[in-house]
Amino acid sequence: MRILLIEDSARLRGLVCEAIRNEGWKIDAFATAQDGRIALREGEYDLLLLDLGLPEEDGIDVLKSLREAGSQTPVLVLTARAAIDERIAGLDAGADDYLAKPFHNGELTARIRALIRRSPVTSMPVLEYAALKLDVASRQVICAGNEVALAPSEKGLLELLMRNGGKVVPKAKIEHAFSEFGDERSSNAVELAISRLRKKLESHNTHSSIETIRGVGYMMREVHD
Ligand code: CA
Repeated sequence: MRILLIEDSARLRGLVCEAIRNEGWKIDAFATAQDGRIALREGEYDLLLLDLGLPEEDGIDVLKSLREAGSQTPVLVLTARAAIDERIAGLDAGADDYLAKPFHNGELTARIRALIRRSPVTSMPVLEYAALKLDVASRQVICAGNEVALAPSEKGLLELLMRNGGKVVPKAKIEHAFSEFGDERSSNAVELAISRLRKKLESHNTHSSIETIRGVGYMMREVHD
């Protein structure tokens, strides 16, 4: 997934880019509406993060011209403006959601996930690892043509492990992601979910296993019989 950020604060650009990259997503960031417009014309983005208070040209104008050009790319407006009418103006101009500054990284990424889930233009892929396939948009998990029935939080967990297939995912990162799926954020809850997920996967020939790396985290590994 590729995200475009237009934000004139260098500090906020740095923070947002780090949060996005931590999720395994790609991000291009620009400080001005002019540079952002060029990027929108030349690149393919799954989502736009747009600051309204930009120097020289207002973010609202970027948004209006994007919608006038027929683009359905989801737009999440970032605004420090407390006035409710500014938020309404953003939504009226075609924003899909807004986030008031300052915001928590966890809330930013959760809002992005929600927008992507209902996006008409999403290019989110089907993840493949060993014999498992996970359709990121429809949330279907398939193994050798059969659907694997999993709870939403287990799918979230599996997605995280599949995206990092062959690499260790630190336990803290799993706990954090787990809290975003709407589940309890505790070490014990993660252990229980991993054990449930392993059991459900065991009845399918996934050619993979979830290994516990003691004191570090978990890792998905390919298994060849
Ligand atoms: Ca600004």
